[in-house]
Amino acid sequence: MPDVLAIGVDVGTSGIRAVAIDAHAETHAEAALPLPAPESPMAGWQEQAPALWRDTLFAVLHRLVQDIPRGYVPRSLALDGTSGSLLLTNASGTPLGPALMYADRRATAEAARIATAAPATSGAHGASSALAKLLWLMRHRPAADGFRTMHQADWLLVQLGAAPGTSDENNALKLGYDPVERRWPDWLETLGVPPTALPSAHVPGARVGTIGRQTAAALGLPADLALVAGTTDSMAAFIATGAREPGEAVTSLGSTLVLKLLCRQPAFAPEYGIYSHRLGDLWLAGGASNSGGAVLRAHFTDEEIARCTDALHPDAPTGLDYYPLPTPGERFPFAAPNLQPRLTPRPDDLCRYFQGMLEGMAEIEQLGYAHLQRLAGETLRSVRSVGGGSVNVGWTRIRGTRLGVPMLNPTHREAAHGTALLALKAVA
Ligand code: ADP
Repeated sequence: MPDVLAIGVDVGTSGIRAVAIDAHAETHAEAALPLPAPESPMAGWQEQAPALWRDTLFAVLHRLVQDIPRGYVPRSLALDGTSGSLLLTNASGTPLGPALMYADRRATAEAARIATAAPATSGAHGASSALAKLLWLMRHRPAADGFRTMHQADWLLVQLGAAPGTSDENNALKLGYDPVERRWPDWLETLGVPPTALPSAHVPGARVGTIGRQTAAALGLPADLALVAGTTDSMAAFIATGAREPGEAVTSLGSTLVLKLLCRQPAFAPEYGIYSHRLGDLWLAGGASNSGGAVLRAHFTDEEIARCTDALHPDAPTGLDYYPLPTPGERFPFAAPNLQPRLTPRPDDLCRYFQGMLEGMAEIEQLGYAHLQRLAGETLRSVRSVGGGSVNVGWTRIRGTRLGVPMLNPTHREAAHGTALLALKAVA
C-alpha cells in the first residue's frame, strides 16, 4: 500500500505555495510560484483576474506532483486564501469580472450600510470586509439571476472540481456568517443579499467533493482525490504552528502586532476589533494592535535592526515606557483613535532606543493578552511567535519575562502546512 499524502495550498498575498504531508505531518513535497501585485485602476482599488490565480495554482500543483517521491499517493487537498479577496460568478462559477482584493477600500458607502444592519459583533464590518465588497459589486456590476459570491479559496476549489457554492466557516465570517448560530443571518436579506448568492459554509477539514476527472488527469493527481473545506490564510498560519490546546497563543510580529488566543468560549468586542473564528471544538480569538515591525522600519535600517538585535540586554530593561505607533491611533488592546506615538525621551545610544521600542511592544502584547483572557475567560498558557520579529531571540526573552508563560517554537511557520493538516483530517 502506498503511503497517503494530504496536500495543503496557501494562496498568499504574494504567491501560491503547496506542500504534501504524510499521516505523521512530515513534509514530502513542496512547490511555490509568485503572484503579481494586484492592479490598482483607481486610488484605493485593488483588483486581480481570478484566471491568474487558477493558472498559478495549476502550475504549482504540477510542480508539486513532480516532487512527490515514489511510494506516496495524494488522497486529499485543501486550500486557504485571503477571505477579503472576493468575486462574483454566474451560477456555474464563471467570473463576472475581476476579484476585489483584500486591501481594496472602495466600499466605504457599503460599510456604512452594513453598520446600520449588522449587529456590532459581526465580522462583516469595515470597508474591506467581504460583505462590503459584495454589496459594492451588486450595485456597480449588476449580475444576472443566480449569481454567486466566492472567496479566493472557494473559487479555486471550484476550479479543481468542487460544486459552485462551496465555502468554509472561516472564510465566510467577514461575509456576515454567524459562527455561533452556524448560519447566514436574516439581516443579510435586509441589505438585499439574495440567499442563493451565499455559499454553504462547511466545517474546515470536512470533505466537500472530488477532483474533476480531466483536472486530475491533466495534473497527474489520482481521480479519487478528496477536496476538503479549507480556511483563511491567517487561520492556516495559526494551525501550522502546532498550537491546539485552550490557552495556547500565537503572536505575529510582522508589520503589525497580531495576537491570537485559543479559547473554549468565543470573544467578540468590535470596538477593539476583536472577533473569533471556530477552530475545531474551540474558538480562536484575535486582536491586532497598530504597533509592530513597521515602526522599527520607520526608525532603523535593516542593518541597524540586525546590529541592535545583537546588542540587546534583555535582563537590563531601559525603563523607557514607549508606545510605538507608525501613525496616531490605536484600536487594540484599547481603543484610542487619536493616541499619539510615545517615543521620547530619545537616548543617544541608538540600540537603547531600539530596545525601548521592543519593550514598548512587549508591554502592548502583555496588555493585549490580558484583554483577550478577560473577554474569553481563558488563561494564557504559552506563546508561539511567527513573522519577521520572531527571529529576535533577545526580544523573545524580553516578551517571555513580561508574559510569564513559556515561549515555544512553532512546529511550522508556513500557512500551507496548516491547510495540509486540515486536508489530512478528511482522510486520516
Ligand atoms: P509582514 O508580512 O507583515 O510585512 P514580516 O513577517 O515579513 O511582515 O516581518 C517584517 C517585520 O519584521 C518588519 O517590519 C521588521 O521591522 C521586523 N523585523 C525584522 N527583523 C527583526 C528583528 N531582528 N527584531 C525585531 N523585528 C524585526
